[in-house]
Formats: sequence, C-alpha cells, structure tokens
Amino acid sequence: MSLSDNMLRIGVPSKGRLSELATELLLQAGLSFRRQERALFARVSGLSADITFLRTDDIPTLCAEGAIDLGITGSDLVEEAQVDIDVRMKLGVGRCKLAVCVPLHGNIQSAADLAGRRVATSFPRTTQRYLEKHTGDSKSVHLVELNGSVEIMISLGVADAIVDLVETGSTLAANQLRILDIIGEYETVLIQSPKCRDQATADRIVRRLEGVVIARDYSLLEYNIPRSKLAVAESITPGFTSPTVNSLEDPNWCAVRAMVKRKEVITIMERLEQIGAIAILEFSINNCRLDQSPGG
Ligand code: AMP
Repeated sequence: MSLSDNMLRIGVPSKGRLSELATELLLQAGLSFRRQERALFARVSGLSADITFLRTDDIPTLCAEGAIDLGITGSDLVEEAQVDIDVRMKLGVGRCKLAVCVPLHGNIQSAADLAGRRVATSFPRTTQRYLEKHTGDSKSVHLVELNGSVEIMISLGVADAIVDLVETGSTLAANQLRILDIIGEYETVLIQSPKCRDQATADRIVRRLEGVVIARDYSLLEYNIPRSKLAVAESITPGFTSPTVNSLEDPNWCAVRAMVKRKEVITIMERLEQIGAIAILEFSINNCRLDQSPGG
C-alpha cells in the first residue's frame, strides 16, 4: 500500500525500545492496524489515519517538515533535533535521564573539569548547550559524535567523559562509570506537526491515548467500611469526583468504590485497614474518560 495525501499520518518507531511500547499503546487505545513484515506503512482501520514506521530519531524532523502529522518519539530526541513541533502529551513510558558520566575513580569532579577534555555523545547539540552553560571554556571541549555504544568510549580510549541516556544505571555500573551531572529528564511523547493536515482526527487520537495513559496511573479500590467511619474513609479515598457509596444489607456498614493513584494503593489499603475497612479489593483500569472532551 502507499500513503494517501489526505489521511492523517502517524510516525511510529520501526524498531528499538520504543517500537513495542508505541505499538502496544496505540492498539490499547483502539487504533487497530496490521503491519506486514518489514512494511513501512499500515492503514488504521475505522479512522482516517495511516501509520508510517520510521527511525525514532528521524520522527521529530519529519514531523516538523510535515511529512507526518503526529509522531511517537523520545523528548530527548525532540530537544536534540531543535525543531518546531508541539508536544501534545507525555505517554508515561520510556523515562530516562541524559547524564554526564565519568569514570568511577577518575579526576573529573565537576563540569568545569571537562574543559580541555574529550566528551563522547549521540546528543551533540544538547551537550554543547550544557557545556556552554556549565564549563568556563566550552570551546576547549572536544565532542566525539557517535550513534551508539557511547558507554564503552572511555574504555576504548576515545573519550574522558560521556553524555548518555541512563535508565536503571546498570549500564553505567557495568562500565565502572558514575553520574557527574544530570542534563535533563525525558520520556516518550506524542508530538504534532505545525502543518497537521487533519486537526479533528489528531484530537480524537490524543483523546484516545489519554484514556489509556491516565488509566495506567490509577486503580479502582473497593472496600466495606462501618458507616461510623465513612467520613474518614472518604478523606482517605476522595476519588476523582467523589467516591461511590452503596448501602449494604447490614445498616451499620457500607461499600465504597473510588479511583486511587496506583503508586499510592498499598499505603491507602493500609490506612483503610487501620480504620476498620474490610474486603479491600484493587482492580486495574484499562481505559477511561474522566472529564468532558472539548467537543462536549
Ligand atoms: P540503563 O542500563 O537501564 O541505565 O540503560 C542505559 C542504556 O539504555 C543506554 O545505552 C541508553 O542509551 C539506553 N536507554 C536508556 N533509556 C532509554 C530511552 N528512554 N530511550 C532510548 N535509549 C535508552
């Protein structure tokens, strides 16, 4: 198949760590498409949109040029590309830091010590900006620009420090490196072109993705509580608008249902237990629409 001129185009990473995350998110948001093996395009069924599979680091530039209308990529790559696009939403995945890293037992103690040294990175523009701000003599720093495997450049003898993405820190530990400074924190984002060819479809896709991304942050808690403790329970689980409270057969008890932040579930369960709640159950939420869409 080929791309149609008037269909919205969504750029999705063709391979690499974001490829699977992006595909999974789109499918969960109800954008169904089938990618033939090695195909560069796929049509989204039931929506006026095509998907095009691209290199993650080309997505910001292709979006700015209007070749694609929406794109999924890393905010680190958006910053590095220095192009004119809108970040429509954060997708809640792929969180990482861009950090200046140096040997564990070396003599580089601060950014100022980078003057006159060699720094390897695949983020030359972001690194240059950092050096200009934090190193007295940024022109004396020799930047070694690479497309990958930056973490081994110190042991290869090509660099004295590196600027690279760090997620868990295990790559650093394996290479006997430590973080000297953090340049920025990044995550996977949905970007939009200023030349977007179909704003209504773009908004509809953003709304669908928001449903899934927000749902991933919340759980639904259900529990039974003595009516005398209901007010305290409601203050612990105020819910999104307010909790749903149902009567039980026993007039001294009621059942409460409320959304809670997923990362707070355990402590909230403990607090509910302390005030006498029983049968506390957690349910995951697959998708949601929490407030009125702009269209009503
Ligand atoms: P880690 O060992 O978990 O700290 O991961 C570090 C390695 O994964 C480095 O080689 C990074 O270039 C790469 N990396 C980490 N997070 C990301 C990300 N969000 N996007 C792309 N590459 C990443």
